Amino acid sequence: KVRVRFAPSPTGPLHIGGVRTALFNYLFAKKHDGDFILRIEDTDQNRYVEGAEQYIIDALNWCGMPFDEGVGKGGDFGPYRQSERKELYKQYADDLIASGNAYYAFDTAENLDFHRKDHEAKGKTFIYNWHNRLKLSNSLALSAEETQAKLDAGEDYVIRFKSPQDETLHLKDIIRGDIKIDTNILDDKVLYKSDGMPTYHLANIVDDHLMQITHVIRGEEWLPSLALHYQLYQALGWDAPEFAHLPLILKPTGKGKLSKRDGDKLGFPVFPLEWTDPKTNDVSRGYKEDGYFPEAMVNFLAFLGWNPGTEQELFSLDELIKDFDLTRVHKAGARFDPDKTKWFNHHYMQEQHNDILAEAFKPTVDEKTGADIDLQYISMAVGLIKERATFVSDFWDLTHYFFTAPTSYDEKASKKAFKEETKAILSEVNTLVNGIEDFTVENLQTEIKGWITSNDIGFGKVMMPLRLALVGALQGPDVFDIMYMIGKNESIKRIENVMA
Ligand code: GLU
Repeated sequence: KVRVRFAPSPTGPLHIGGVRTALFNYLFAKKHDGDFILRIEDTDQNRYVEGAEQYIIDALNWCGMPFDEGVGKGGDFGPYRQSERKELYKQYADDLIASGNAYYAFDTAENLDFHRKDHEAKGKTFIYNWHNRLKLSNSLALSAEETQAKLDAGEDYVIRFKSPQDETLHLKDIIRGDIKIDTNILDDKVLYKSDGMPTYHLANIVDDHLMQITHVIRGEEWLPSLALHYQLYQALGWDAPEFAHLPLILKPTGKGKLSKRDGDKLGFPVFPLEWTDPKTNDVSRGYKEDGYFPEAMVNFLAFLGWNPGTEQELFSLDELIKDFDLTRVHKAGARFDPDKTKWFNHHYMQEQHNDILAEAFKPTVDEKTGADIDLQYISMAVGLIKERATFVSDFWDLTHYFFTAPTSYDEKASKKAFKEETKAILSEVNTLVNGIEDFTVENLQTEIKGWITSNDIGFGKVMMPLRLALVGALQGPDVFDIMYMIGKNESIKRIENVMA
């Protein structure tokens, strides 16, 4: 059975790159009738940020990608927070030492720093592996007694993986194919620390194994860790899952990786939900609060790295589940296009129920009018204009005349619409309107259009000033719809106003 996990570290709000990783995991799991697991990787306590974990859960739920197992939800493989699995990892570090794949190291931070700088000065990179392992302070350079003495004395230690000399590793990635790595460039990475915490590498491998993860789908930034992870599986005698490293998300210019700070600089959100930094109280914009529909967000994120190979761009979550395929994910960076996001939002706006949109819009209407406007009325107004809107926040500009009479008239439009004979025409229209007993769109249309034709006046000469009177500008939906909506008395009043 397919089992995948999304394994964020709670170091801050999830940015859209993280949401994309979650989405691809979710799609892959659902496509194969598998499980989607949320695991919180919080072994690095120094980077822990208050509220980040809840944010991650809220973001996944808002996107409509609920997880099957995980923090706050439970499951057969818990706990799902690594800090609560602390006791579990030591034995695997011990196993690795016993099998000769790992060793204790006692180097101080100062000493490591010294070596790093010394190498830099000579134009080289300091790699902690067989090149210089024996010159450093570790159990491969010390006698068994010396090592034990240090441990007994309670000296700080780390456990490092012993990377092999002169070997070529053959790694596989679903998206990138075969990858060859020369082990001589690999560091002896730290797996465990004397404070009782595993590092990301050890905890990640142990948990993926124990949680029976079949596919690891994650961002490209983890590709450099793949060699170590492969070796850890081998050293522990476990089968490795399959790996897929998703392409980077690039800035709108296509140059460089999209960063968490780009949103503020370039004027679009890079987070799914608004985020208030608990330390600085700085607020970062979120897609939700900016008026995006989760369907739009999911749709545009799916295209950051994947495409169906057809012209189809609009995909519901269910359609994505059906068509998604990891082998169609490309390895080249995916350019983020904020305008395209709006295009998707405009589309999903059309699919929303008018009543739901009206509910979101009602507070604005009530505030602007100072009244408690009927929801059904708002809903009808929304239905008439939403094809011109991208966000609910566009609604007021597009509908104000349904709620308040124009107080001024667009100057250019007035010049265009108002001619010498206009007043006379409008006063006749008013008489006509006054006489319509059953004030329906149909009756309005038949009466006014009929009158125009039989008097051979020309539609523009009537409809333009009429629209100006009702809206204050030459915009908006069908004039008869507007008249019907605001009603007979209000229509007559507005026509009188424009003539005054
Ligand atoms: N904790 C890692 C992160 O924050 C997980 C990487 C992985 O999926 O292996 O992205």
